[in-house]
Amino acid sequence: MATEEHLDTQNRSTSTEQPISVVVPCFNEKDVIRVTHQRLSSTLSEIGHAFEIIYVDDGSRDTTLEILREMQLADSNVRVVALSRNFGHQVAVTAGVSNARGEAVILIDADLQDPPEVIVEMVRLWRTGVDVAYGQRTDRPGETAFKRFTAKLFYRLINRMSDVSIPVDTGDFRLMSRRVVDALLSMPERDRFVRGMVSWVGFRQVAVPYRREPRFAGESKYPILKMVRFATDGLLSFSLTPLRVSTGIGFAAAVLAAFGILYALILRLFTNVWVSGWTLLFIAVLFFSGVQLLSVGIIGEYLGRVYREVKRRPLFLVGERLGFDPDSHANTS
Ligand code: UDP
Ligand code: MG
Repeated sequence: MATEEHLDTQNRSTSTEQPISVVVPCFNEKDVIRVTHQRLSSTLSEIGHAFEIIYVDDGSRDTTLEILREMQLADSNVRVVALSRNFGHQVAVTAGVSNARGEAVILIDADLQDPPEVIVEMVRLWRTGVDVAYGQRTDRPGETAFKRFTAKLFYRLINRMSDVSIPVDTGDFRLMSRRVVDALLSMPERDRFVRGMVSWVGFRQVAVPYRREPRFAGESKYPILKMVRFATDGLLSFSLTPLRVSTGIGFAAAVLAAFGILYALILRLFTNVWVSGWTLLFIAVLFFSGVQLLSVGIIGEYLGRVYREVKRRPLFLVGERLGFDPDSHANTS
């Protein structure tokens, strides 16, 4: 009887122990996903803490989802959230996080660019009371000079322009404590720039340096245009500087215009050469229409964002959830 009771309490304590959750967004990753799972699982089992790995299928068009289903049947630590279509990396991450039960949640890419072994150090830091342990890239051997240059430029720019300081050379590879995760999920915005949002939350955030490996297989899902979108999202969601810059240019243009008016009036009133100023006129018209269009465009970008927010659409739709408790529900959608 006594032993039974003992067993019972032990059981309860292990089954109610909050796991560490790992969220892996996957978009057409059929070539890497099994290897990723192996490396993740072996690292996580070393840590000696219950864990779950949540794979978010972001509307893959290859066999990623079938492979994930198989992995889920074979391994009870695997959960699968399949979105109804491709919603993009940042939303896929959010979908995974909102389905995570863990007292700590780790974000990692599916392509093994972020070595799973770094998680050990992140968990160690978390156990000492750190809220966010973010991976900081010391070296990115597998990426083109162009990508490294633009990434560097982007991080410098966003830090100049935004009130929140976003650490340079960090991606989404990070561990977050439960209170940070809850804060993140309480932010309802449509344009998700996860690493900026996590910085905004505050608490104790610590860098974990690591070497960013080349992609294990498959190709980058961030072609140049998507990278530009992503950077714009980051900049506009975290800064009003573009609006201020356009106000500044507008102001400077108005001062210039005042001189122009003065000049035109003087020519008209005191000389008889006043028709000859057409070059200036031409330049002025071109310049000011350029400034106006640019400013309208910037306002339009912000307005578009406001429009997206007020529509209050769900951020993503889930097609299928596998491996979760039947009565568990996601926090948000
Ligand atoms: N990803 C996603 N949805 C997308 C694009 C990418 O879930 O629309 C995932 C992708 O499977 C990978 C991670 O986001 O796990 C990072 O993408 P990728 O490695 O292509 O980006 P890069 O490392 O080249 O910046
Ligand atoms: Mg990658």
